[in-house]
Amino acid sequence: MKITRCRTADDQIVYASIDADGTASVLEGDLASGFRATERRVGVAQRLAPLEPRQVIGIGLNYKRHAAESGMTPPGYPVVFHKTLNSVQGPDGPIVLPRGGRCQKTDYECELAIVIGRDCKDATPNRALEYVFGYTCANDVSSREWQLERGGGQWSYGKSFDTFCPLGPVLVTRDEIPDPNALRISTKLNGKLVQDWRTDDMIFNVRELIAFLSANTTLLAGTVILTGTPHGVGMAHDPPRWLRPGDEVIVAVEGIGELRNVVVEGE
Ligand code: ZN
Repeated sequence: MKITRCRTADDQIVYASIDADGTASVLEGDLASGFRATERRVGVAQRLAPLEPRQVIGIGLNYKRHAAESGMTPPGYPVVFHKTLNSVQGPDGPIVLPRGGRCQKTDYECELAIVIGRDCKDATPNRALEYVFGYTCANDVSSREWQLERGGGQWSYGKSFDTFCPLGPVLVTRDEIPDPNALRISTKLNGKLVQDWRTDDMIFNVRELIAFLSANTTLLAGTVILTGTPHGVGMAHDPPRWLRPGDEVIVAVEGIGELRNVVVEGE
């Protein structure tokens, strides 16, 4: 099932299933109980992030070729950071550049995002996928100067400005994606393919990440885990290609869809 969260024409927020003709039927339910189709039809005014996450955890340097292009040794353990909830943006909203020249080096990162469906502690890699509700696309938008130059060794500040975590366009239930490490993942910047790779290049795969993150720690239902980005980020271009007002960024993950956001200058 592909689940959209949206604002309706009469200003309600509902979960819905959007058909090919653009009409939508309301879904009943939630992450804990699952979703069921209803007969109720609605007009969609705006698509929103497909869930309101309880927390967003990011994994850095998790693709072999991306670690190489960043000039970093592949890590021995997953590199964990957090993105704060204010950064979540929907598929129809803009990426807003920090204003006043506070950030000149804003970058895109296409990522497969895991949505945890029920509280998960000490999961083994074998059973890890049982805790997954589904998957969506993410753009782990990153201010490289605040991540790498002025961050004091942590990455969260430079990855948590408002709108720096677009999610969507849909939440796809896990039954539709039997192997999350066998998917094509890509970014198009103004129509040009700049990242195009496969999720089997992850250093720590989806099962291993859930096992690692849940060791002695409860991964709360509603947690979103961004699993890292492949090579081709703007930072690694020569010269670097930072996001500019007017850019269109489309993150695509096979089996999920296209997450499209336009970049605007902060006001
Ligand atoms: Zn990332």
